[in-house]
Amino acid sequence: MRVGVVGAGLAGIGAARILSQAGHEVRVFESQSEVGGRIQTVSHSGYLFDAGATSIAPMGQSLESVLLHELPTEELIRIEAPVVAHDGVRVFNGNVTASHIVRYTYQRGTQHAVTLMATGLDVRLNHKVECFDETSSGAYTLDGDEFDALVLTAPVPEVERLLARSREGRRFTNARFRSCLSVLLGFDSPFEARYHALVGPDQAHPLSWLSIESIKCPGRAPVGHTAMVAQMGAEYSRRRFDADDNLVLAETLSDVSRLLGKEFAQPRFSQVVRFKYSHPETTTSFEAVNSPMSRLVVAGDGLIGGRTELAYETGRRAARLLLENA
Ligand SMILES: Cc1cc2nc3c(=O)[nH]c(=O)nc-3n(C[C@H](O)[C@H](O)[C@H](O)COP(=O)(O)OP(=O)(O)OC[C@H]3O[C@@H](n4cnc5c(N)ncnc54)[C@H](O)[C@@H]3O)c2cc1C
Repeated sequence: MRVGVVGAGLAGIGAARILSQAGHEVRVFESQSEVGGRIQTVSHSGYLFDAGATSIAPMGQSLESVLLHELPTEELIRIEAPVVAHDGVRVFNGNVTASHIVRYTYQRGTQHAVTLMATGLDVRLNHKVECFDETSSGAYTLDGDEFDALVLTAPVPEVERLLARSREGRRFTNARFRSCLSVLLGFDSPFEARYHALVGPDQAHPLSWLSIESIKCPGRAPVGHTAMVAQMGAEYSRRRFDADDNLVLAETLSDVSRLLGKEFAQPRFSQVVRFKYSHPETTTSFEAVNSPMSRLVVAGDGLIGGRTELAYETGRRAARLLLENA
């Protein structure tokens, strides 16, 4: 079977890897210049940041066994430092559940998980799929190539546009995504506390998650420096999504320095990263979108929930559905 996969995030690469291991010919099309999707690592000025998914918490899902037993583990890091809470003014040990979750990253960034999974796959980068066609014999044509089956793993709003342009009348109910502003900060001051992340009380607080990258994974900042990623909450990110970087930066630094001290008011490096489709706010289900005999399969976190291990699970399900029908 020849399978075309749209999107090289965890769902797409996960599906492609399973189909390829089963002996099928798979080609992945990715609009960006790297694999990873919303698992995105940025390296700059000696700092290393996970701008998207900060870590992978497989929580017993099948991704756990891929990370621990199928992929090389030399660079796999189990995050040891705890997660604590903040109320906008002070930091406290309030989030016991978040602290007990086992989380992983890689020395060179969480994105490396997808890079490792993509090893040996035929991935066409910088290749945005605009539409596809179905031939009279039931094959799919996509950019001049013919495929027996397709797996679509772009965020649901993108998939809906792709299906509409391709005159495929599949319907999604209530699949809405929120946005996220992720602010990368490098400081020339050391961070003395021993927690790796601060979680905000609820999504309404502007600062929803502050990851201390250089505590999460030592080596992500020069000695004596600190690397952080401030993920801004849903309401703030919606309101400021198109705002000037300088305004977002000033407001984020005001929140960060109020919590951590004035040595974290003036970064040596900063960058605002915008995720238009960050997390699904509502999901549809795999079964509602994909019929059991389908050769055009939709996968991705919009069918299940905005987490890496769940996104992988949908890619795995898409691959298994196609393998059962092959
Ligand atoms: C800021 C942020 C923080 C997060 N933190 C965590 C966390 O700590 N833990 C966790 O488990 N999850 C986290 N998540 C959620 C997690 O990143 C996602 O649930 C997961 O990565 C989604 O994977 P996916 O494969 O479904 O989609 P994506 O990763 O979005 O992959 C889809 C791919 O399709 C490509 N694409 C889109 N349209 C086209 C097209 N027309 N043609 C070709 N390619 C196309 C995109 O470029 C992308 O690479 C976070 C997300 C964000 C944004």
